Amino acid sequence: LLHTSMEAIVLYPAPNMGHLISMVELAQLILHHHHPSNSLLSVHVLITSPPINLGSASTYIASVSATTPSIIFHHLPDPSPPLLPASFPSMEVLVFEHINLTNPHVQTTLLSISLFSSIRAFVIDGFCTPALEVGTSLHIPTYYFFSSGASCLALFLYLPTLHKNTTTSFKDLNTHLHVPGLPPIPSSHMPEPTLDRTKEQHSWFLNFATRLPKSAGIIVNTFNSLEPNALKAISDGICVQDGHTPPIFCVGPVIKSNDPSAGGQAECLKWLDSQPRGKVVFLSFGSLGTFSKEQLKEIAVGLEKSGQRFLWVVRSPPMKEQRQLLMSQSDEDPDLDSLLPESFLDRTREKGLVVKQWAPQVAVLSHDAVGSFVTHCGWNSVLEAICAGIPMVAWPLYAEQRFNKTLLVEQLKLALPMNESAGGLVSAAEVERRVREIMDSEDGNSVREQVLAKRQEAMAASSEHGSSRVALAKFVESAKR
Ligand code: UDP
Repeated sequence: LLHTSMEAIVLYPAPNMGHLISMVELAQLILHHHHPSNSLLSVHVLITSPPINLGSASTYIASVSATTPSIIFHHLPDPSPPLLPASFPSMEVLVFEHINLTNPHVQTTLLSISLFSSIRAFVIDGFCTPALEVGTSLHIPTYYFFSSGASCLALFLYLPTLHKNTTTSFKDLNTHLHVPGLPPIPSSHMPEPTLDRTKEQHSWFLNFATRLPKSAGIIVNTFNSLEPNALKAISDGICVQDGHTPPIFCVGPVIKSNDPSAGGQAECLKWLDSQPRGKVVFLSFGSLGTFSKEQLKEIAVGLEKSGQRFLWVVRSPPMKEQRQLLMSQSDEDPDLDSLLPESFLDRTREKGLVVKQWAPQVAVLSHDAVGSFVTHCGWNSVLEAICAGIPMVAWPLYAEQRFNKTLLVEQLKLALPMNESAGGLVSAAEVERRVREIMDSEDGNSVREQVLAKRQEAMAASSEHGSSRVALAKFVESAKR
């Protein structure tokens, strides 16, 4: 009898650290904030066998399982025959195809969960769009968790319209695109997989954009006062072709609450303890960001010339030219002596620290010594910077990051731009100039003030009766009906 009154929410993140972490944080929020009388609610997280290297995912999952046993992880088997990453044109296509082939296992798992609990909501990541029909065919209300911001959501809701209005690929359009609620977007700054309409990833993303409004609702990792213009356009229904927009729940910022990679003892945190307050520039480029050897050298020279203190996460350059091919990423620790200018580490010993591969970013950003953040503009990184009140320098690399840069620099004024030269390289002189500017200039100060104001708003939104908690409660309520 007890079993039949159990209720479940099932989450399905994409196989990528950033997406996994924010979905698990969403699970924590749901469990923490849903009304105590609903104590029979459980949250399940589906984990696909990754076709790509998930980094420290298993450590992360183990630590969450240990601290929050009410989050139940289900490891889905490999689809058969397994995909061969090397034969796929891009990481995005590989992930979509993999998710598509995993559908039968998703169905089996949903059915087995429903033997014990009534599934109130199935919440999927954008990359898990192929699973939308699994949810709907089982009559489970299926929601999206949109892991970027509301502005990017407006862009995707409007994508089918943009697509219909032209026959040229965005990469060749050479114009500014006008999307309701957004500043004009240079067509070349559209999310990377949508740039070329002849490519397979383009059709997967267009399919995602078309399905978004057909879901039961969209949970967005933002807060109302961060992106009011985009949210207004979305709720006015002007982003979607037929005007039908499902309920939108802005529950953010959903960011990592505790950082397993921090472990209290991370060497870089100890180093930060010895640095003066607010003086260190932190450079980190998401879970996948890598640079060529040439670019690493430019960064090193720029940092040294700037005279600023720095903490810099460095990875080996990609093994192949195609940066977006995940398999081209090396797991090996970078050989700093061969990658960085001669004696760079010795000369900068007093002022800088280079960390190989990965730093506990949330803990670093909230350390007193950190004063600015050179970021690839991944949405989680952006929210983490806002929550820590740290001004940014925007250096986008992949996915929707160029778009995020436009938004951060032009509209939200939360970042200064890092600009590439014609060949795509960011020069040492540009690094030097921007790093100085963000740490010590009028423009840098005004960005800092703006970020601190947004930090206050983010805290207010996440407080007990704040807009994000209200939206989360609404989602849980709507899922119960
Ligand atoms: N991250 C980290 N240490 C690193 C690099 C990344 O902890 O050295 C974390 C970062 O805090 C964020 C996530 O990885 O939570 C990256 O997500 P984001 O959306 O910024 O970028 P993505 O990796 O999806 O491109």
